[in-house]
Amino acid sequence: MRRSIVAGNWKMNGNLEVNAELIAGILKEKSSAQGIEVLVCPPAIYVAQVSGLLEGSDIGVGAQNASAFESGAFTGEVSLPMLADFAVRYVIVGHSERRALFAESDGQVAEKARAVLLAGMTPIVCVGETLEEREAGGTLEVVSRQLRAVCDGLDADQLAGMVVAYEPVWAIGTGRTATPEQAQEVHAALRALIAEADGKAGLEVRILYGGSVNAENAAQLFDKPDIDGGLVGGASLKAKDFIAICSAA
Ligand code: PGA
Repeated sequence: MRRSIVAGNWKMNGNLEVNAELIAGILKEKSSAQGIEVLVCPPAIYVAQVSGLLEGSDIGVGAQNASAFESGAFTGEVSLPMLADFAVRYVIVGHSERRALFAESDGQVAEKARAVLLAGMTPIVCVGETLEEREAGGTLEVVSRQLRAVCDGLDADQLAGMVVAYEPVWAIGTGRTATPEQAQEVHAALRALIAEADGKAGLEVRILYGGSVNAENAAQLFDKPDIDGGLVGGASLKAKDFIAICSAA
């Protein structure tokens, strides 16, 4: 049995006051979402604040990005050991906004995922096709290429221990979510790709769906056999909506 995960990706939103209110709301509502893993991913500068607010709770903290390097002359970057100092256990890598706006390549995403695993943390590896790629029939080819780059060279435990997030680019922040059937087709293909490398890892790896998940559509998506939860952007900024999504997982 795979334990579901719902992760809130706050992106570049929030401030001290808004974060405190959001976390208080999530803690207040959380009892309705038992038995699943819940985490929030604030901007790096607020990781310390949010970690402090969540101390003693069962809600985890993730980072939205990290450097693959441990320390040194990398102006503006944040390292994994720094994040670990603030109880961060998950790191999103290869989000489509980082690939598109910050030119992160498949190779860099793979390097980051490997660094996260070596640091004893869990990478949430994002893959997803653009609308153009979907319309040209290239969806499975694109996501397979992106995931294969990460999987190459990982052992069975590492493959099983990472989390994959399928996030079609055309569904992110657009209100246009993939249908449960569209998502399931891709999730099954991603799981099969990992199973090719290691059968047990294929069964164990958790694959999240992301892209305009909300309180209304979450249950139908999470009902699909290969969808193990969600990576939630916009709807994770409202405590009630976020916990409603968690409860659906
Ligand atoms: P969205 O974002 O839920 O606002 O579509 C999801 C994501 O980018 O992780």
